[in-house]
Amino acid sequence: MAEGILIIGAGFSGAVLARELADAWDDEILVIEGRDHVGGNCHTERDAATGIMVHRHGPHIFNTNSREVWDYVNRFGRFRSYVSRVKACTTRGIFSLPITLHTINQFFGKAMGPAEAEAFIGSIVEPAPAGPRNFEEAALATIGRDLYDTFIHGYTKKQWGCEPRELPAAVFQRLPVRFSYDDNYYDALFQGIPEDGYTAVVARILQHPRIHLELGRRFDPGEMSSPRARFRHVFYTGPLDEFFGHRFGRLSYRTVAFERIEALGDYQGCAVLNCPGLEVPYTRVHEHKHFTPWESHEKTVAFREYSHETGPGDTPYYPKRLARDKELLLRYRDLARETPGVSFLGRLATYRYLDMERVIAEALDFARMSVACLAAGQKLPAFPNPD
Ligand code: UDP
Repeated sequence: MAEGILIIGAGFSGAVLARELADAWDDEILVIEGRDHVGGNCHTERDAATGIMVHRHGPHIFNTNSREVWDYVNRFGRFRSYVSRVKACTTRGIFSLPITLHTINQFFGKAMGPAEAEAFIGSIVEPAPAGPRNFEEAALATIGRDLYDTFIHGYTKKQWGCEPRELPAAVFQRLPVRFSYDDNYYDALFQGIPEDGYTAVVARILQHPRIHLELGRRFDPGEMSSPRARFRHVFYTGPLDEFFGHRFGRLSYRTVAFERIEALGDYQGCAVLNCPGLEVPYTRVHEHKHFTPWESHEKTVAFREYSHETGPGDTPYYPKRLARDKELLLRYRDLARETPGVSFLGRLATYRYLDMERVIAEALDFARMSVACLAAGQKLPAFPNPD
């Protein structure tokens, strides 16, 4: 396979890239994946004890505003309609998340209309005149101290293992705050869950006569000089620091661990129950039968989710992007740009907090651009975008 293409990682990034290259370019494509399944951290499988489709690495609800991305994933599996509605269990009771007019009225014991609530929240926020410099400033400027203390501070501390003021404002800005009763977690035109799980969707994306998949084959950084000689180009979708043998040190990621709960019937009445207070050590509890309301199961399975720092051997999930990480990232990015014949794509290789839909959109764009470069005999860029 002297002129083939090597793709490292069979999550959404690697799979979409492989498929698009296979459809538009004549090379054979080898996809290697260290785990024994495709789908990366979106991996789903039927739970042996209950028959329920379980999201092995935590809940994944597909949502996008892009018609192109929605149509793309629907080519490879039937996405059933699903609206994410989250509840929060606090010492003051159960509330609706994201923070909506319902949450605000319930929390403050009021019955305000939208404009009144907006004015009320406006009167209790702590503005950041020069713009929020971090997560905590963004939160206090948007929802004020009381809501922050109840719903955000503890959850974020548990989730990220640091003070919220150490995190970028962008992490808070993922969360909607609404002055209406719309409790749909996502502001997205399209939302759903694949009927037979994400792993089946990714497996179908990879079904192509020119794509050769090797599961259980871990990428070895030491191997890289020979694959580069053997392959026309290498696309890497694993952790950026791992590719370079962590030579400048480790980028920090959070990982999650799950504690299993089995019961009969319905355990908590909803798919995701967030537990923002510091009185419990876990961040949330997810009950997976609620992700497939079109199925029925006698038993149920739920998981308490615990977040901790990623050590050697742990699966990285969330890039932390603390100040120290950003310095390290720049050094790794420079090194990546100086490494010929390799491009870096996806959440882990670009060290960004990307959702599935963004990963797919970037892989589609990058594949198109790569085909154009290959056809013109030009060098491929190291990364999908300049940031
Ligand atoms: N967050 C919080 N309380 C919640 C839910 C989220 O403080 O009940 C914060 C937390 O820091 C989290 C961030 O908001 O990391 C983004 O939440 P999102 O639901 O987007 O996280 P994801 O689904 O990616 O885990």
